[in-house]
Amino acid sequence: MMDLQRKIAILGATGSIGTQALDIARRYPERFRVVCLTARSSAEKLFDLVREFRPRVAALDVEPETLPEDVRFCEWVLGEDSSARALQISGADDALCAVVGIAGLSNVWAALSCCERVLLANKEALVAGGDLVMERARSLNRQLLPVDSEHSAIFQCLRAREGNPVRHLILTASGGALRDRTAEEVENASVEDVLRHPTWRMGAKITVDCATMLNKGLEVIEAHYLFGMDADKIRVVVHPESVVHSMVEFEDGAVLAQLGNPDMRGPIGYAMGFPGRLPYGGEPLSLADVGSLTFRKPDTERFPCLPMAYEALRAGANAPVVFNGANEVAVEAFLGRRVRFGEIARCVRAALEAVPQREIRSLEDVFLADREARAYAQTFLGGRA
Ligand code: NDP
Ligand code: MG
Repeated sequence: MMDLQRKIAILGATGSIGTQALDIARRYPERFRVVCLTARSSAEKLFDLVREFRPRVAALDVEPETLPEDVRFCEWVLGEDSSARALQISGADDALCAVVGIAGLSNVWAALSCCERVLLANKEALVAGGDLVMERARSLNRQLLPVDSEHSAIFQCLRAREGNPVRHLILTASGGALRDRTAEEVENASVEDVLRHPTWRMGAKITVDCATMLNKGLEVIEAHYLFGMDADKIRVVVHPESVVHSMVEFEDGAVLAQLGNPDMRGPIGYAMGFPGRLPYGGEPLSLADVGSLTFRKPDTERFPCLPMAYEALRAGANAPVVFNGANEVAVEAFLGRRVRFGEIARCVRAALEAVPQREIRSLEDVFLADREARAYAQTFLGGRA
């Protein structure tokens, strides 16, 4: 029998995924003992969570001015890469990796070495770490459970495959905040326009990635690594209602889909409770109220980042790392209102063309490729990065 109570670490606890995971942990104290909570700089928020969940260890990358008396009962790890260091001393069975960006790769790496199960929200870590992360999970016999809603859907559908080959994975995409805008409106979209996502409420970085559709590109690469499928077997369809979370097509043409309301507590709870299912208090899906489900082809002219992801995946080697790294720099510059929205796609395209191809054999190679991509993106964006 599975342990009744699992010790869980929440890395990136103050974020959108982290706080929703803690909603579930709060509901099921008999199932989850939160042993580790981490964030980058949101000290006050983290202190409140520490007071409530009373973990063994907590961590902040940016040292707070003071540590209040009433949070000192737990061990604190402060400074660079504090999440990975805290995780290693936490004794967690499971780690939810919900830090944003490649900054979370070292956590995923540490989680694979010291936890039985890794609940993966941090897609950038897998896009950049790719084969290395999957190989580590295999060799250490760790379970990597997807939290991204599309991958959770595919993971659930694949449980019904019974050894049969898969013809295609079909990822659904909301289309993001700019789905119905003209090319010119996309080019000049403001931060406010972009952060108004039609169906999901998420952190700022991923919301920008949804608007460029680069998020779907990251997810195509993520699906390639998680499920071992080639680029030409992974398809994307725009589905504005975000009710069908993704699909698997089998050789006989049968397509299995997983449906639900757009609520990340669904996939987060599924990974936390796996293989059990935990009710989390969300509204039940009422298809009669939804009325109709619509689907259309992605527009690769207005959203060139999606085809670029396929190119990066097919090119292999350091290309996915470069694709991700250049985007992280460009998105930050956009959110800082220093570059136009349209610059993001141009910056990623230019980085993919300019950064020389190199093989990735180690984590150091990944970090080197990431640094090269960032340096290139900074040069491309001039003083605005
Ligand atoms: P948020 O920006 O809301 O939260 C990010 C969290 O990570 C915060 O707790 C933040 O701390 C922490 N963090 C950021 N940088 C570092 C760092 N260098 N070291 C330690 N902690 C850090 O992001 P989301 O929750 O939206 O996304 C998290 C990940 O999950 C992303 O990779 C995203 O792509 C993925 N994802 C998110 C979905 C969503 O619905 N939000 C859906 C599917 C995937 P602080 O508050 O101090 O900055
Ligand atoms: Mg997703």
